[in-house]
Amino acid sequence: MLKPIHRVTCSPALAACQLLMQRFALWLCEPGTTAANLTQAGLQPPAMPTAIEADWLWGFLQRKVGGQLLLNRAQVLVAMSAVQKGAVAAWVQSVSALAAQFHATPPPWPVTAPQAGPLNWGAFRTLMEAFYGTGFRTGLPYLADGTPVAAGGVTYASFVDAFRIAHRLNPDPHARQVCVLCGGPLGDTPHVDHWIIKSAFPLLSMCAHNLTLICGTCNEAPNKGDKPVHSAGSFADWFHPYWRPGNGAVQPGYDLHAAAVHCSAVAPVDQPKAANLDVLLNLASRWTREFKAEYAKHQDVLRRNESRRVRAAQARHTLQELGAYVQQWTGGLSPSEPHHEVHATLGQAMIEPARMQAWFAELATVQ
Ligand SMILES: [Zn+2]
Repeated sequence: MLKPIHRVTCSPALAACQLLMQRFALWLCEPGTTAANLTQAGLQPPAMPTAIEADWLWGFLQRKVGGQLLLNRAQVLVAMSAVQKGAVAAWVQSVSALAAQFHATPPPWPVTAPQAGPLNWGAFRTLMEAFYGTGFRTGLPYLADGTPVAAGGVTYASFVDAFRIAHRLNPDPHARQVCVLCGGPLGDTPHVDHWIIKSAFPLLSMCAHNLTLICGTCNEAPNKGDKPVHSAGSFADWFHPYWRPGNGAVQPGYDLHAAAVHCSAVAPVDQPKAANLDVLLNLASRWTREFKAEYAKHQDVLRRNESRRVRAAQARHTLQELGAYVQQWTGGLSPSEPHHEVHATLGQAMIEPARMQAWFAELATVQ
């Protein structure tokens, strides 16, 4: 959230897949859909939008997850009672209208699973999550622009590449990449994150507005993990990667008395959102660790320089030299490098006269 988050070139393919999932889920929940309709012929238009999508879906249903065909999960769903089908269909409609949660007067958000029984819900969840876990890995039936295609469609790997390219802050391919949420290094093994967790909202497993590439530290517990990104169904006090971005609205701030970095809002109106983002990602404690580590690094550099001077019988650092060191270091900070905001915060804290004086006094004790 610290960095801008963009839609990527293949976002339309993900949006098309999301629409297919929605249409398929609602078709399964139609009172007239039975196991007899669950055939390759039965999926053809008008059941599904195009023959390409119908054929892809049939191939998808032949895959196994947890030792069982996905087709078996679809058969479970068409066999639900009319009441259960109605409950699932209403839930699908509500979740599909996710964007409305970021309007001024949002409709109710379904915080719980539909009343369809645990076995039916389990089948629905497995089927919908498989679009991400299986379908996306092997290839969607869409080109990047969302046009249906029988082969060579967008894959998980092509999405990861497109996201990396769209969020490269330094165009040099060898430059370090930055996590859009925390501003730290994206690392060698970034994770595709579902902003709203897919285990609770499997219909959003392929939603283009629900997927980002973030660092493993942000994604894993005790940070984001499986935590909700709403407060009991209200998104009002929450940022959203695409619809209510935190970039430019949150920043690290240094609290001298607490000797800690906090996650603060630029505008007071965003303070609850900044606080929720901090709880979600533990930004304050992670940023404080980085702040202290960077401070320790510079302290070490200066101590070793001072020690070299003492051994060589040269004059010790002056306060002016210390100031010049901090100026040069902060002047060289690059916005495209990991932890730029935290390091800039450290630079500001160090340049304070009292802090500089304390550092200078400490340096004078080096032998
Ligand atoms: Zn991160």
